[in-house]
Amino acid sequence: STRASRILSSLDISTTSTEVPGVYDGEWKGSGEILTSVCPTTGEILARVKSASPEDLRETLAKARDAYTSFRNVPAPRRGEIIRQIREALAAKRVQLGALVSLEMGKIKTEGVGEVQEFIDICDYALGLSRMMSGRVVASERVGHSILEVPNPLGVIGILTAFNFPVAVYGWNLSLSLAAGNATIWKPSHTTPLCAIAVTTIVSKVLEHNGISGAVAGLVTGGKDIGEGIVANSGVDLVSFTGSERVGRSVGQNVSARFGKSILELGGNNASIIMDDADLNMAVPSVFFGAVGTAGQRCTSTRRLYLQRNIADEFLQRLLKAYGSVKPEDPLVDTTLLGPLHTSNAVNVYETTIKYLRSIDAEILTGGIRYNEAPLDKGNFVQPAIAIPKSVDTRDKIWCTETFAPILNVAIFDHLDQAIEWNNAVPQGLSSSLWTRDLRNAGQWIGPNGSDAGIVNINVGNSGAEISAAFGGNKSTGWGRESGGDAWKQYVRWSACTINFSNEAPLAQGVTFSA
Ligand code: NAD
Repeated sequence: STRASRILSSLDISTTSTEVPGVYDGEWKGSGEILTSVCPTTGEILARVKSASPEDLRETLAKARDAYTSFRNVPAPRRGEIIRQIREALAAKRVQLGALVSLEMGKIKTEGVGEVQEFIDICDYALGLSRMMSGRVVASERVGHSILEVPNPLGVIGILTAFNFPVAVYGWNLSLSLAAGNATIWKPSHTTPLCAIAVTTIVSKVLEHNGISGAVAGLVTGGKDIGEGIVANSGVDLVSFTGSERVGRSVGQNVSARFGKSILELGGNNASIIMDDADLNMAVPSVFFGAVGTAGQRCTSTRRLYLQRNIADEFLQRLLKAYGSVKPEDPLVDTTLLGPLHTSNAVNVYETTIKYLRSIDAEILTGGIRYNEAPLDKGNFVQPAIAIPKSVDTRDKIWCTETFAPILNVAIFDHLDQAIEWNNAVPQGLSSSLWTRDLRNAGQWIGPNGSDAGIVNINVGNSGAEISAAFGGNKSTGWGRESGGDAWKQYVRWSACTINFSNEAPLAQGVTFSA
């Protein structure tokens, strides 16, 4: 369509050539199989992409290693200056890149642009870090000795990303990796290659303009095989993986089998707990955004809702009213709140789950259908659902697995202890929210008897984290931490350096060993 061409050409992606190169290692190329990028809203093919062959992967990895050996000698604040320029280049294309996220992934305009903003924010953070990645001097027990903890660049970082944040998650990893003096190789989701090509086009121009090898930020589009190739390669010092628990389990095992380092950011199954004393004017819209925003395709989407008995009816009434107001529409239209699911397979998963809910006699308060009328029939549009399963057996798959679609399961509780038990009873541990005005509930929630998730919010919804804290989940979500906080410490290698300034060579712990 002309709209797609306009968005792609605004990002310097050629729309005249039949196949777009999907590999970058200082030069654009691609000799692997052809990936097709399909628009989830219209079903149109946006582009055909020449993905990486195994040979392309080998070359890109070798060039990344070379690029690393020079980039690690660029002083960190100078690396920060390059990150600042990347930030500026992204900001100049914020709207266009945001539109491409909406076009290719399907999230609504404000969220597409928000994702680019998140990349910009983490660049600011990494620019600051480039002058602040300090090691430590610690006390030695020996006279005339000092012990330093020294961070040095780590090497080549493999970044494997999911479809649902096709720009921001790469941004988290690239910015910290560059600040730390590493080279990266990015394998985006095979269904969002154009977002990756557009980002790499922006980043590579800045690198080249600064006389830095573009292979510092290499790109290999492709599927499972290319992902596995990165995971297996001992030249990749850290694999930062974002995706499903199923794939993450094998990535984690394969990286540790070769003693590599990994960061795993896997599936979530996030609960919001609403107490009787909560401010419903705040809680209802937040649950609405958590469950329906991004059409339920965030790792932090609200999937479980636990309501204290006294407010349960009113809460559901108000939530249903909000659900009733939402219409599926083209995500690139300003007023749209509900875009499509990313793939037709996701629609199948949604429909199968609804069928299962019916089979266990869950009460489905709203939703459950796929939109089949034109023009929505060309896209993957479904109606967000709210269900009340009969039992709260947390071993039932409806409660203990992540369905990556807008389905919210509800249960009613009497005491906070019960709700916290349900919150913690699932394998995943990403995001959790408690809504209350009572300090005692809040204290319990964030303490040892509280939520076991990596994100533990109070009067804030499940999704929509800021970059300044380390982001990630516990348990089967993988224990990874990315973005802010101390996450950068994983992107460097640490050395404990004991230095002797004295004329003696004493052993630690007073051990004597002389002939
Ligand atoms: P996915 O697991 O299907 O794919 C993730 C990436 O792994 C893709 O790049 C894919 O091509 C690649 N891949 C597939 N098989 C591979 C293999 N055998 N070896 C190596 N790489 C392989 O996930 P998805 O459907 O793209 O994304 C949705 C999932 O990601 C959800 O579970 C969601 O919760 C999760 N997610 C988690 C976070 C987080 O920060 N915790 C953020 C976003 C998404």
